[in-house]
Amino acid sequence: MNVPGPVRDLAAELAREEAGLPAYVYDLAGLDEHVAGIRRALPPGLELYYAVKANPDPAVLRTVARHADGLEVASAGEAGHAAAAVPGAALAFGGPGKSAADLAAAVRAGVRRVHVESPHELPALAAAARAAGRPVDVLFRANPPVTPEAAATGKDMLMMGAGPTAFGMDETRLEQASQQLANLDLAPVLRLRGLHAHLASGLDADAALRAGREVLDFGRRWCARHHLARPEVTLGGGMAVDYTRPGDRFGWNAYGQGLAALARSGPPGETLRIEPGRAVTAYCGWYLTRVLDVKHSYGRAFAVVAGGTHHLRTPAAKGHSQPCAVLPVDAWEHGWPRPEVSGEPVTIAGQLCTPKDVLAREVPAARLRVGDLVAFGLAGAYAWNISHHEFLMHPPPAVCYLNR
Ligand SMILES: *Cc1c(COP(=O)(O)O)cnc(C)c1O
Repeated sequence: MNVPGPVRDLAAELAREEAGLPAYVYDLAGLDEHVAGIRRALPPGLELYYAVKANPDPAVLRTVARHADGLEVASAGEAGHAAAAVPGAALAFGGPGKSAADLAAAVRAGVRRVHVESPHELPALAAAARAAGRPVDVLFRANPPVTPEAAATGKDMLMMGAGPTAFGMDETRLEQASQQLANLDLAPVLRLRGLHAHLASGLDADAALRAGREVLDFGRRWCARHHLARPEVTLGGGMAVDYTRPGDRFGWNAYGQGLAALARSGPPGETLRIEPGRAVTAYCGWYLTRVLDVKHSYGRAFAVVAGGTHHLRTPAAKGHSQPCAVLPVDAWEHGWPRPEVSGEPVTIAGQLCTPKDVLAREVPAARLRVGDLVAFGLAGAYAWNISHHEFLMHPPPAVCYLNR
């Protein structure tokens, strides 16, 4: 894959330092440009929230927040973290299994909008709002009966709805939740604003639009039936990142045009919102490391790099090869021969004692030597923060920022 000049230069610099590699590099300038592009592709008035769990790095959050309407947090921990990293950001709190303590902490941290996953969350949320002395806006997370074809792209999907799951509420549960709101007379502290849905991840623009259309049909009918004056519908995230084609991007322009058409068909006063994570930050992150060993085993070539999937779990979690490029280092200061492979596919493994610690399989490297550097791209989302850092007690990677 193509590695931008500034990332290459930084890799060379880090390679000269004692503990410079492995390192994560976040290209904040590239991220700024990317999110600005997403914003431009979306119709005016459509709200963009960033799903913090994709990458909660504070500098990344601040960069994204310049172009976003808010941040979607999935735990009380993320709520406190996001509030500290981006003071004043609008925070929406979602996710299954919110305890009373989680809800209280999140509301104290400044959360103003909660995606309620179950009728059972309502009394505790009302208590949290009362204790904080301010009302909280509520969206019910719906698991609406959309057709499976609406979301299907086949390739690399994770389904969170459109069938029995632990996420959100089906139609029966939604009725129960709105009854409960009315019966408990929670209107002064909990203001029902509309519906939220997040059905799947790994959707291309067509699939995201098909799913969005069905969610919106359902959401509009539901909001109208419940007489919500200025209804809000959040269509979720899940925009695809294609790890096999690192140069490709989600079709933001086509998606934005589709959303604009959907928005025009809506009732006055309606707010539409999306909350992508992966497709926002995946491209800004690089995991840089060096080759420690090169060898053959039963005729196949392997390279072992410093670090591994305890730093970058993405390829193990998703079962893919992380896109990468070799950055050659010609200097060799040791008094012994330098192992290398050339002209054959190389499997790149990390330092962990498990066969699952593979970052990329059968990489067609022209030449790979001990001491060369490898840059893994698309490492800006669900990468460092989903990794099992403590396994084997290797040192953590350095974290660097590019502000070109
Ligand atoms: C994870 C998540 C997102 C973001 O999903 P991506 O695939 O990263 O775009 C959005 N909304 C909810 C509720 C989520 O759980």
